[in-house]
Amino acid sequence: MGIRENSQKLLNELPPGVELVAAAKTRTAEEVLQAVEAGIKIVGQNYVQEAETIYPAIGDKAKWHLIGHLQKNKVKKAVKIFDMIETVDSVDLATEIDKRCAQMGKVMPVLVEINSGREKQKSGVLPEKAEALIKAISSLPNIKVMGLMTMGPRFGNPEDSRPYFVTTKKIFERIKALAIPNVEMNYLSMGMTNSYPVALEEGANLVRIGTRIFGRRD
Ligand SMILES: *Cc1c(COP(=O)(O)O)cnc(C)c1O
Repeated sequence: MGIRENSQKLLNELPPGVELVAAAKTRTAEEVLQAVEAGIKIVGQNYVQEAETIYPAIGDKAKWHLIGHLQKNKVKKAVKIFDMIETVDSVDLATEIDKRCAQMGKVMPVLVEINSGREKQKSGVLPEKAEALIKAISSLPNIKVMGLMTMGPRFGNPEDSRPYFVTTKKIFERIKALAIPNVEMNYLSMGMTNSYPVALEEGANLVRIGTRIFGRRD
């Protein structure tokens, strides 16, 4: 099957209220455009540079989410392209996004990335630090915390991902119940090609899928 069929099938299968991010790393502008023309509304990119390369061909035909780690020196470029940054994990980074957005007169919706697997090499805030981080950045006027994102460790068996999704959902519910001013816990971004059915069972309403749309990356 091609990108068009894969996209349409997936869009038809997802339950109502769940939004799909096409994880587009390594894909050409032409491939991403096919997905967008098939009805995909959100394109996810891991790198600012890669987004800049394909952006001109797609522009505002889709919304753009940053789903990879963001370095401070890339923030200025990132806030021009992206409609949401899913990977905020420090006060420092949030402050820089806030500052650059203020210069543009823009308010950036952000998700806080949780390092649910407590993996040393991965970005994201540790589960027990999430609440303090969100409180600390909630008053920044040019960002708006809209929810959480997690990757979790990679497994062959998607069932193994479940505990990490459960952990993240618990944090999501706890922070939602705190009703912190200027924080709206609307989005829970979890699940990729092999794990998204499990993520949906555990409450995800934003899934980030690449392989199932575009085929295998080589
Ligand atoms: C690549 C990627 C995905 C999608 O992975 P697939 O297994 O190809 O569906 C989702 N989220 C992030 C952050 C990614 O880098």
